[in-house]
Amino acid sequence: MAIAYISFGSNIDDSDERIEYIETALGIIRANPCVQPPMQVSSYYETEPVGYTDQAKFINGVAKINTTFSCEDLLAFLQRVECMLGRERIEKRVRWGPRSIDLDILLYDNACISQPDLQVPHPEMLNRAFVMIPLNEIAPEVRHPISGKTIRELIEKISETPETKGIIKWSAAIQ
Ligand code: ATP
Ligand code: CA
Ligand code: CA
Repeated sequence: MAIAYISFGSNIDDSDERIEYIETALGIIRANPCVQPPMQVSSYYETEPVGYTDQAKFINGVAKINTTFSCEDLLAFLQRVECMLGRERIEKRVRWGPRSIDLDILLYDNACISQPDLQVPHPEMLNRAFVMIPLNEIAPEVRHPISGKTIRELIEKISETPETKGIIKWSAAIQ
């Protein structure tokens, strides 16, 4: 059994729909036989989009799962969940453009994987307040396997950035 941390985000242009997409995705993940309870979910945070900024605000958060999926199979499963929820990009060439749901693997035990289609830990996680804030809420003592530092230590680096001030707690954790 492995412990994986998954980041989720939705920024379809309707605030209620974003929550519905996230809760549907979390429900599918929780119901899979390769995911064992308990699943732990952070609060939801509303964040300004990065990269391509002319789009709706994201709702972001992080979930902790116990899983018998290998890391590769977990990625394939999460991509199926994205597909089931009709993930699409309004402008397909725009990276980070609007999407119904985005599910990324942040951490998978202490695995360090560097394959063309799978990098774990997620290479951008340490730079992203919208990932680190919810992750710190549920996993402050977990160590990032490359830096060897805890999430609590690592979040200090980004806690004073303007991006962090643009992140607002949207709702309490829904377990
Ligand atoms: P970012 O990865 O910077 O957050 P994104 O989530 O918008 O960008 P996607 O278009 O959703 O990028 O994914 C592009 C590819 O990233 C996927 O096809 C997948 O193979 C690859 N990928 C690599 N590492 C991971 C990971 N840890 N979690 C999810 N996808 C990953
Ligand atoms: Ca992503
Ligand atoms: Ca992704």
